Amino acid sequence: MQKHLLITGANRGIGLTLVKQYLNDGWAVNACCRQPEKADELTQLQIKYDSLTLSQLDVTDYTAVEQLADNLADIPIDLLINNAGYYGPKGASFGDTDVNEWRRVIEVNTIAPLKIAEAFLPHLTQAQDAAYVAISSKMGSMSDNNSGGAYIYRSSKAALNSVVKSLSLDLDPYGVKVVALHPGWVRTDMGGPNGLIDTYESAAGLKQVISKLSCSDSGGFFDYLGNKILW
Ligand code: NDP
Repeated sequence: MQKHLLITGANRGIGLTLVKQYLNDGWAVNACCRQPEKADELTQLQIKYDSLTLSQLDVTDYTAVEQLADNLADIPIDLLINNAGYYGPKGASFGDTDVNEWRRVIEVNTIAPLKIAEAFLPHLTQAQDAAYVAISSKMGSMSDNNSGGAYIYRSSKAALNSVVKSLSLDLDPYGVKVVALHPGWVRTDMGGPNGLIDTYESAAGLKQVISKLSCSDSGGFFDYLGNKILW
């Protein structure tokens, strides 16, 4: 049976490449983005793939999240990738913290992933062997923090990792695996031009890791090569 992916932040960067690679593998994909009318690459892909559906979704609009979940009520979702993310002000250092931006980043990176999991749990439980993947970041790892700074982004992804850990335990009785994945340092708008890998290498690695997830991996934090990352 055809597998179904729902992914957020699908119009550019890592999200867009994941969409391309899962479509190429024969999956049905529901690609969510804030402005489908401007998502030219996704629209082009729809010409080639009947199995691609676009949905308008700002992940911080929780009414819209629930509405989308209602609209897709009969569809089992095998894989939900919470990819949408926001870095906040780049280059901000100690003494320079924009509190409103911090709230915005937490909203996108931490709160929305939980609200999405809550809304789509019924769809995940309709599928056999479903997984919920949160695209996190090594920058949320305490152990990996050797350079300080980046208070806003680091704290939002560290908090996301905490959400993932609790979710993995709460969703275990439903047979849904939950993991946090680090995509590598990727050349995107967020990662910048100096990133170590492109979106194709990142997405291919993430896909491989996801395909091999077992129940014992649930609640874990891994990079795109499958290496375990310390919290
Ligand atoms: P990009 O900046 O290229 O893309 C971010 C995506 O998130 C866009 O599609 C953007 O949509 C979407 N987004 C942001 N805010 C919202 C929102 N409120 N509602 C819906 N969508 C939203 O980033 P990447 O592709 O690099 O990052 C993807 C994920 O990977 C993120 O979670 C990021 O934190 C993580 N990551 C990236 C790394 C890297 O090196 N690139 C390293 C570690 C983690 P729009 O176009 O509308 O703004």
